Amino acid sequence: MKKTKIVATLGLVSETKGTIKKMIESGMNVARLNFSHGDFAWHERVIKIIRDLEKKMDVPVGILADLQGPRIRIANDEEISISPKETVLVMEGSGKAPSSGQSKKVILIDLPKIVSLVNVGNEILIEDGLLKLRVVKKARKALECVVVDGGAVKPRKGVNIPGISGKLGALTEQDKKVLKFAIKHDVDYVGISFVRNAKEIQDLKRLINRYSAGKSVAQVVAKIERREAVQNFASILKATDAVMVARGDLGVEMPQTELPLIQKDLISKCLRSAKPVIVATQMMDSMIRNPRPTRAEVSDVSNAVIDHTDAVMLSGESASGKYPVEAVRIMAEIIEKTEKSNFDDLPHGFLEDKQSSISAAVAQSAHELAKDSKAKAIIVASVSGFTARMIARHRADQSVFVVTNNRKTQNQMALVRGVESYLLPECKTMDELIGKAMNLLKSKKALRRGDKVIVVAGRPHVKKEHMSLVKVEEIA
Ligand code: PEP
Repeated sequence: MKKTKIVATLGLVSETKGTIKKMIESGMNVARLNFSHGDFAWHERVIKIIRDLEKKMDVPVGILADLQGPRIRIANDEEISISPKETVLVMEGSGKAPSSGQSKKVILIDLPKIVSLVNVGNEILIEDGLLKLRVVKKARKALECVVVDGGAVKPRKGVNIPGISGKLGALTEQDKKVLKFAIKHDVDYVGISFVRNAKEIQDLKRLINRYSAGKSVAQVVAKIERREAVQNFASILKATDAVMVARGDLGVEMPQTELPLIQKDLISKCLRSAKPVIVATQMMDSMIRNPRPTRAEVSDVSNAVIDHTDAVMLSGESASGKYPVEAVRIMAEIIEKTEKSNFDDLPHGFLEDKQSSISAAVAQSAHELAKDSKAKAIIVASVSGFTARMIARHRADQSVFVVTNNRKTQNQMALVRGVESYLLPECKTMDELIGKAMNLLKSKKALRRGDKVIVVAGRPHVKKEHMSLVKVEEIA
């Protein structure tokens, strides 16, 4: 079974129970709901389908609610065509473009005060940078721009203006409404778009806690898609629970030729901190139209696995493409083949383990013991999932089974590489916990009689004993 997880964005082509079931069977571990699209009724219906399928199929599926953030968009109500070297006007507004009185075409953008925020020399990039304008003159109500790369300016397409993003906060009023809805529907993770610094993550966590009112709490996925986020990554990583390398916007806000190196750097930092990381965007982009990916796309997915990512993500491929199920299936096949090779193994000393915590030491010894004793699996008893993540970061060949009494932890493990999670009621003693965990895994056919296993309890989920434990056991 594959270890690297698949996050698949759901959309109009993947909204039915039948399709979502096939996507889970093909290897989808986390469903991403992109709140840039769809109304609350649509999201509510899809969440219900996922939760029903989880029960019926007896498999945890994480739900990631991705907040839109301060996304800027084209607000003209009709498509217009622009050509290189043409001069156009950019203005704040929406709907029908006003006449410029100078026969210049007018592009409307839904960013309040765009004229004062943007300076001469700034670039305005449309649709992931496919179209490019350069600001040459500022008037009171309009920016005069020369078209560098032309084409069709389509309504609702995204706009990036590198250099001004630092002036726009990460959470909008609309995001707060979405967050309330997402928490009410008990999602497992919340994605924060265009985050700039750790404070924005702390603010989001405070809101999640407030909206959850003591219920088990959704984790935060910091989407790294701004230059500021790359610069502030060390503090963002401390504050967040998980990370997404959001290559779409990042490749517009920064030179896209730097993306592969940024991806490798962010993944290795996440791995050392035991925080799950997702590589996102255009992994199998051509499968929006074609039944098979390109060779370059196959290599991209495989290389992300070799970089040791926890998860790879599908966006348009599974949300609006012609082949949502096949995209998941082929992605899973690429992952499995790559994981069978030695190329994805962690080189010795990669973790540069300076972590002196007891959990780090417990996880290290469990990993060594599993290797030396040729154990079949590592069983981790974990309440919050922390010990499980500490084990998972060693990228062991053995299966890692997490038993937890917390439903949210069980679902959140859907993002962690190599971990399968199971729910177990609270136990009174450590012996009872170990016995029940082994019986459960035997009954699920995950383990067989005679299999050697390593049992780890970082913060045991038994009532009385408070100890860290690593033990070799045999399935009876
Ligand atoms: C991205 O920019 O790569 C990304 C995942 O963000 P979104 O699809 O939400 O714009």
